[in-house]
Amino acid sequence: MFALLSRPRAPFRALLTAFAAMASCVFATSSSAQEIRFFRIGTGSISGVYFPIGGTIASAISNPPGARSCDLGGSCGVPGLIAVAQATLGSVANVKAIHSGNLESALVQADVAFNAFFGKGTFKGSKRMTGLRAIANLYPEAVHIVVRRDSPIKSVRDLKGRRVSLDLDGSGTRALALLVLNGYGVDPRKVKQVNSQIGPASDRIRLKNIDAFFFVGGFPVGALSRLARDAQIRLIPVDGKEAAAIQGKESFLSATRIPAKTYRGVGDTATVAVNAQWVVSAKVDDETVYGVTLALWHSATRRLLDGSVPAAQGIRSDRALEGLALPLHPGAARYYLDHGMLKDPTKDQGKN
Ligand code: GLU
Repeated sequence: MFALLSRPRAPFRALLTAFAAMASCVFATSSSAQEIRFFRIGTGSISGVYFPIGGTIASAISNPPGARSCDLGGSCGVPGLIAVAQATLGSVANVKAIHSGNLESALVQADVAFNAFFGKGTFKGSKRMTGLRAIANLYPEAVHIVVRRDSPIKSVRDLKGRRVSLDLDGSGTRALALLVLNGYGVDPRKVKQVNSQIGPASDRIRLKNIDAFFFVGGFPVGALSRLARDAQIRLIPVDGKEAAAIQGKESFLSATRIPAKTYRGVGDTATVAVNAQWVVSAKVDDETVYGVTLALWHSATRRLLDGSVPAAQGIRSDRALEGLALPLHPGAARYYLDHGMLKDPTKDQGKN
């Protein structure tokens, strides 16, 4: 029995079962080890959290020819694989790039992955991206709404008529910002949108060129820690009945709190969170995906993740299968089956 998804999603249970069954009979062949293969990981803005985490994962799964061997303290990645983390606009652009073959994999918000697969939300009316698969659940990302501390803005409702950055089209931040604004009855067209990625948005808050900006990322977000040192900021809460209604609309969201002092001078703030997940194209071969999954959860990767940005500490194998928004790639499913993290349904048959 597969109990991978935090909420019952019948179509995926069926898919997971099918994929796991398929996965248990692949990998009969072995590869020629030193054939070079490139593997792209789409991330987000260079000032965000996806970009450094994507870079860390790229290092962990790469193993170019000539690299020192894993048991000598060298690379424990996939032999012959060269992975690169690419800066992108974020989750929405990432799923589109995987779909069109411009990326093999990417970090993606669970809500965006799910909506892309089913043609919902931001993707309503577009062709379903049914070739998206999951490698692993990664870490939680929180909705940050940043204002200056002396700002009269106290609630999302007060953003009406203000100069606000919802991030660029193509970001997962923007998709979620629109949901939050609508949840509070604020028509996004009534907001003076001055949209940019987190780097320029932080500069503009400091220079008083905008009144607020949204960013959805794993905290503490480095760019926001720097901003909080340079300027006095505050976070606007997403809570109460509005937050509950927003969560009702988007089942991958959960309530969370950004604890006091996460950012200098900023008190404890209630908000909503969504998980970042590592998404791959169904077209990538099973052996490669098995290899990158093995490398992701290799003990040597823990040290890399712990030496990366703080959010990377939330990437843990015991959460790998939590709340997956997509069916597992058969290569990843095979890894989890081999490591006892998934049960093979075909082996359960006949047992009482
Ligand atoms: N979750 C954000 C997005 O998809 C990006 C977060 C990041 O860059 O860390 O747009």
